[in-house]
Amino acid sequence: MKTWQDILGDSITAAAHLKEHLSQIATKLDAAPEEAYLNTTSMSRIIATYPMRINPYYLQLIKKVGDPLWRQAVPDMAELLDPVCIEDPLSEEKLSPVPNMVHKYPDRVLFLVSNQCAMYCRFCTRKRKVGTGKMVITQETIDAGLDYIRRHPAVREVLLSGGDPLLLPDSQIDHLLKKLRAIPTLKVIRIGTRVPCTLPMRVTPELVAILKKYHPLYVNTHFNHPAEITPQSSFACNLLADAGIPLGCQTVLLKGVNDNSEIMRELFLKLLEIRVKPYYLFQADLTRGTNHFRTSTDTGIMIMRSLIGHISGLAIPTYALDGPGGMGKIPLTPEYILSRGDNLVFENFHGEICTYPESGDAL
Ligand SMILES: *Cc1c(COP(=O)(O)O)cnc(C)c1O
Ligand code: SF4
Repeated sequence: MKTWQDILGDSITAAAHLKEHLSQIATKLDAAPEEAYLNTTSMSRIIATYPMRINPYYLQLIKKVGDPLWRQAVPDMAELLDPVCIEDPLSEEKLSPVPNMVHKYPDRVLFLVSNQCAMYCRFCTRKRKVGTGKMVITQETIDAGLDYIRRHPAVREVLLSGGDPLLLPDSQIDHLLKKLRAIPTLKVIRIGTRVPCTLPMRVTPELVAILKKYHPLYVNTHFNHPAEITPQSSFACNLLADAGIPLGCQTVLLKGVNDNSEIMRELFLKLLEIRVKPYYLFQADLTRGTNHFRTSTDTGIMIMRSLIGHISGLAIPTYALDGPGGMGKIPLTPEYILSRGDNLVFENFHGEICTYPESGDAL
């Protein structure tokens, strides 16, 4: 049986290789892929700036040219023609007291511990550096990060990210978690990882045995489309959940991928079935090279309105916008309140008008 490392090693990373594989997908469907996708020269130009990695597992989920999984994985010329967005929209570099450590909120830090991912998502917020030589992670940067957390007792939670922390070898993950757990002021460890979606065979029983030694440990994963929920990804999530690891999902709202109510409804309900709680639905960041994925916030609000009250509250994430310049996340919520005063007048999920008499305390 192939190991996850073997599968990752068979990823498509070069334009010529992509052309070969995608011709096969197109032939299967008896349709010609658009010329642009098969133009090796322009594809190479994109990849030189923003790396490509499509592993065989994710590749077989792509069913046709331009489908929602294709859009997440296959480079698009629009990435080099983005007239609007900026390199580091969340000012992460400015908010890093030590390299690869973003400290934006008082009680938690974002600690980048890997520069590799099982797939390079075309819409990635850290597209400026993930998978490239611009993201330098060494034993020194990790030690400096650990030291920063030790010196800042107000930091009660660490969010491990990258890149994808679960692309590190088991022994390094074990070592890092052990060091983090030895810091008494650090209470909660959260891992942000897309491997349950993009390379579920990475979630091995051995890995899970390591993770479960370091509770309270949370895993937030990232699915964007119901077609990503497969028997393999369900199996991976079940292994994690059975180890007592609470699972959340951070979905990104992406034009042409999941920007409608039916897809979101199916995605969130299916996530619950594999024991993953939708946590955030992110409005797309202003990341350079991803402008073609951005929807209006109206689209997101409309989707949220179509879900709230209509499906289980467990399936409803917080729709959030991460403020440009490192201002932090704010919830974007449909407006249900029509007026305030002695009575709070609001609309319910059916659009019926309701009244709640205030107690008068604050009036
Ligand atoms: C998103 C984010 C977090 C975590 O925020 P939560 O609302 O707790 O999920 C922490 N640090 C940074 C820099 C972030 O961008
Ligand atoms: S898995 Fe996450 S960090 Fe990696 S490329 Fe995708 S969005 Fe970016």
